[in-house]
Amino acid sequence: MSHQILNRMTNFDDVIIVGGGLTGLFCALKLAPRPVTLIAAAPLGQGASTAWAQGGIAAAVGEGDSPEAHAVDTIAAGGGLVDEAIALALAREAPARIRDLLHYGVPFDRDLEGRLAVGREAAHSARRIVHVRGDMAGRAIIAALTEAVRRTPSIRLIEGYVAEALLTEDNEVTGLQLRKANEPNVMPLTIAARAVVLATGGIGHLYAVTTNPREASGLGLAIAARAGAVIADPEFVQFHPTAIMAGRDPAPLATEALRGEGAILINGKGERFMAARHRLAELAPRDIVARGVFAEIAAGRGAFLDARDALGARFADKFPTVHASCLAAGIDPARVPIPVAPAAHYHMGGIAVDARGRSSIDGLWAGGEVSSTGAHGANRLASNSLLEAVVYAARIAEDIKSSALPATARAPAASPPRRNAAFPALSETNLRAMMTSRVGVIRDGDHLAEAVRAFARLEREAHSAALANMAASALLVAASAWTRRESRGAHYRSDCPAESQALAHRTMTTLAKARAIAESLADRAPARDAQPMMA
Ligand SMILES: Cc1cc2nc3c(=O)[nH]c(=O)nc-3n(C[C@H](O)[C@H](O)[C@H](O)COP(=O)(O)OP(=O)(O)OC[C@H]3O[C@@H](n4cnc5c(N)ncnc54)[C@H](O)[C@@H]3O)c2cc1C
Repeated sequence: MSHQILNRMTNFDDVIIVGGGLTGLFCALKLAPRPVTLIAAAPLGQGASTAWAQGGIAAAVGEGDSPEAHAVDTIAAGGGLVDEAIALALAREAPARIRDLLHYGVPFDRDLEGRLAVGREAAHSARRIVHVRGDMAGRAIIAALTEAVRRTPSIRLIEGYVAEALLTEDNEVTGLQLRKANEPNVMPLTIAARAVVLATGGIGHLYAVTTNPREASGLGLAIAARAGAVIADPEFVQFHPTAIMAGRDPAPLATEALRGEGAILINGKGERFMAARHRLAELAPRDIVARGVFAEIAAGRGAFLDARDALGARFADKFPTVHASCLAAGIDPARVPIPVAPAAHYHMGGIAVDARGRSSIDGLWAGGEVSSTGAHGANRLASNSLLEAVVYAARIAEDIKSSALPATARAPAASPPRRNAAFPALSETNLRAMMTSRVGVIRDGDHLAEAVRAFARLEREAHSAALANMAASALLVAASAWTRRESRGAHYRSDCPAESQALAHRTMTTLAKARAIAESLADRAPARDAQPMMA
């Protein structure tokens, strides 16, 4: 849709869905024929983590499996913070949502008898991952849903626009402020809305090393937080232990299956380091391997995935995607170890929502990775994220259909626009580097405090809305990580390495609280903190 046309449409009062990943597309389809406007920062098919998912969706559809067993595995992975009722309900709804996806044309793999083929993944007690052509689930889901959305006349699509502010009055949604992506000098637009669904994905791109697309910069989380929404568990970020350090941003993944096939982790001196850290060595849980890799890199020894003995010449055949990523970086993994590092991969925290996907702001729903339902606790079980996205997308649609929305949208008051939405390169680089070094795999109080102060200052002073939003999300993660003085799930503090019974509860916070933490830490700032972060 052209900017001119959109500019004239400043008063539609539809349901507005922000995000073109699994959550946004599925929710829009489920709402049909009710008119909805779907806004995505990038053209559909691009800029969404969903399209990059390789494993698939967890669903207890295999013989001998049950939703109860699925819920037990989900709860065990979550470090004591999973909401058990939510996990069980999620597992129970999984088969129905898989049927929906089949109906929309997702070609899940089947066995010889025509039943859904299910694969196994770490920490699942049964084979329960439905997949497409091996590792193509994400791409196939996005392709099928995009086609269905483009065929549905009730869905108005606006691609290439970024939501940069959520407008509210008396804790009720009144609209959104948008800006054309990659055109920072164009003025923002204001759209009235009675109902907004945020489906903007995760925050991985706040980190210098990530597997997530650039659009996963925490903007959706930030706009809700800046409007006063309650945010849950922001400190819990899952890191994938073996992203390939091949000079690419985002970093390609060296799948866990390589370690399953016998590839080992070594440092630059050729020493195998995981065996001393865990009895399962390279096959230890994801967060433990991530910490092992991080520690070797931090000690200056580097970390490498060595598949020479385990796979050698078979590498290209068995792992063509990883092989291609390595070759593109000039690495032949059959002959040399692959340089790896932990990468920000998935955000367990997000906008706090109830079982219907409702946030603490009237008229604001959130689903998928931008939300926090309580299903993942302190650590996500593999392939539960796409499941949560599709289940909550359906629930949100159901809830909106049965809700009495205000008869007309209130006229939204635009928030004072920041100068532009561009990402000043140096500031963004600094923020991402600080997230990786201070709020990453291994954290401690002093470095977290430094990050909290820097992000609070950046959030106040940034000239661009995008950078201020990134800083707000970074501040939420850092401030809650500072507050949680224990180690649990994916959150590890070297100064508090044990789990604390007293902290066995979810975090519920707001941006105001995070800013107050920054203020309380201001007095303790050492001189080096005064360095400006802005370019
Ligand atoms: C490499 C990789 C592999 C993965 N593999 C799996 C797997 O096998 N199984 C599994 O369950 N999970 C997997 N995950 C996680 C899973 O893919 C995501 O959690 C899930 O796809 C999130 O879906 P979503 O709809 O919430 O967000 P996304 O799919 O990320 O979609 C977000 C959408 O919002 C748009 N957007 C963002 N900000 C704005 C804004 N401010 N304004 C307008 N639009 C905006 C984006 O452009 C995009 O269209 C993987 C993730 C990655 C990165």
